[in-house]
Amino acid sequence: MKRAIVVGSGAGGATAARELQGRLDVTVLEAGREFRPLRTRLPALETLRLAGLTVDPRQIPLFFPAMQVHVTPEMVLVNGRCLGGSTAISTGNAVRADGDLRALGLDLDAEFEEIYREIPVSTAHQRRWREHTRDLYAISQQMGLDPRPMPKMGAYERCVGCGRCVLGCPYGVKWDSRRYLLEAVAQGARVVTGSRVIGVAIEQGRATGVWAREGLRRRFYPADLVVLAAGGLSTPVILQNSGIPCEPRLTVDPVLCVAMEWPDADQVREMEMPFVIQREGFILSPYFDYVSYLFSRDWRYPARNLLGIMIKLADENVGTVSRRQVCKPLTARDRSRLAEGVRLCAEMLELLRAKERPTIPSKMFLGTLNAGHPAGMLPLSERELATCHPDRLPPNLYVADATLLPAAPGNPQILTIIALAKRVCKFL
Ligand SMILES: Cc1cc2nc3c(=O)[nH]c(=O)nc-3n(C[C@H](O)[C@H](O)[C@H](O)COP(=O)(O)OP(=O)(O)OC[C@H]3O[C@@H](n4cnc5c(N)ncnc54)[C@H](O)[C@@H]3O)c2cc1C
Ligand code: SF4
Repeated sequence: MKRAIVVGSGAGGATAARELQGRLDVTVLEAGREFRPLRTRLPALETLRLAGLTVDPRQIPLFFPAMQVHVTPEMVLVNGRCLGGSTAISTGNAVRADGDLRALGLDLDAEFEEIYREIPVSTAHQRRWREHTRDLYAISQQMGLDPRPMPKMGAYERCVGCGRCVLGCPYGVKWDSRRYLLEAVAQGARVVTGSRVIGVAIEQGRATGVWAREGLRRRFYPADLVVLAAGGLSTPVILQNSGIPCEPRLTVDPVLCVAMEWPDADQVREMEMPFVIQREGFILSPYFDYVSYLFSRDWRYPARNLLGIMIKLADENVGTVSRRQVCKPLTARDRSRLAEGVRLCAEMLELLRAKERPTIPSKMFLGTLNAGHPAGMLPLSERELATCHPDRLPPNLYVADATLLPAAPGNPQILTIIALAKRVCKFL
């Protein structure tokens, strides 16, 4: 049987492995290791913070190796480096966000139907909402913002609302791409962890395999077909290392939180992002932001006394990643949309304060700008839709991850990337 190398085991890679195993002999090369949820409890995190020991987000991988961090002058970028990739540290949101692909002419209805047969999606968590979440939901309804309970992927009828979604679900409630990976392995696929792919070997216009670093060793994996799904920050670097240029169109869906002190809100012990408000160019959703809580001086309150709402922005396609650095400036349009989001969040929180606790002083603060949805540096063009194969790649080299997205969804991306990876695999 012909050999396929799939690089990465996140949303795109695990999907590709599952779709291809059987037709091809698949080996998945994954830079990270087995995923383990963060075990450190909240009181210990609080102690570290109070002792002034959390000073730089780049410390995160020291105690949580599954999370990779890049810091740019504008923001902190986080993504998963482990089996399951960023899906393992996701908040389980299951949103269909393929509007830009559809506008381009790509109809992924069949793939989404498959996904909804394979992955349980529900809003069963709603019965566990805390009082302040119900109140914020009602307030945003009164403001005409049309909030919707967030669809979540997994067995959410079992969710205990511990609020540790981005640290890894300790109860196995959340669906993540390791489930697809397990199915691929059951069909005979091989998974190699700790194998960081550096480049694709290309001879006479065809990919002949990939070079990977494994500890101090450099190893060559021969292949008849290569599928890159190392995520929106790594796939472009692998391509560039292989002599294939990408486009300076990096998007990341930046997140900014607006928060206030709210004694005993205990949002930190509630499931993240229980409902969503869709606006032009951004979404709003209640969120306890660990990055700001641990590293921002303004967030000096005990975790249980913080209440926040996130703005997740569909940023413009401006930015690059290279082997050495990520460059992701915000444009004037990005800043103005963020400002509009901040205004709406502040209004929601102020209405809540006036209604529930008028004696609490009205004091709000912003979080650290952060992002976890890198995408877009080899966007599919209309011409390439028929095969989902970018023209500039050799015929037996494919991309099956967020790198292909033509524009920032400003929305959770996992389901859309899975749908796209399924479509890519239909052409192989
Ligand atoms: C904190 C957080 C929460 C999120 N929550 C949600 C959510 O609730 N819902 C949602 O839809 N989206 C969410 N997202 C976004 C979503 O997880 C990503 O958009 C999606 O997983 C991207 O899929 P991908 O296949 O492009 O990359 P990833 O899922 O990141 O997978 C890339 C994989 O490639 C591996 N890799 C990287 N470089 C190499 C290399 N050189 N060689 C080998 N392997 C490599 C990585 O370790 C990783 O396993 C969240 C993201 C973050 C960071
Ligand atoms: S709130 Fe807790 S139990 Fe529920 S999905 Fe998140 S981590 Fe899992």
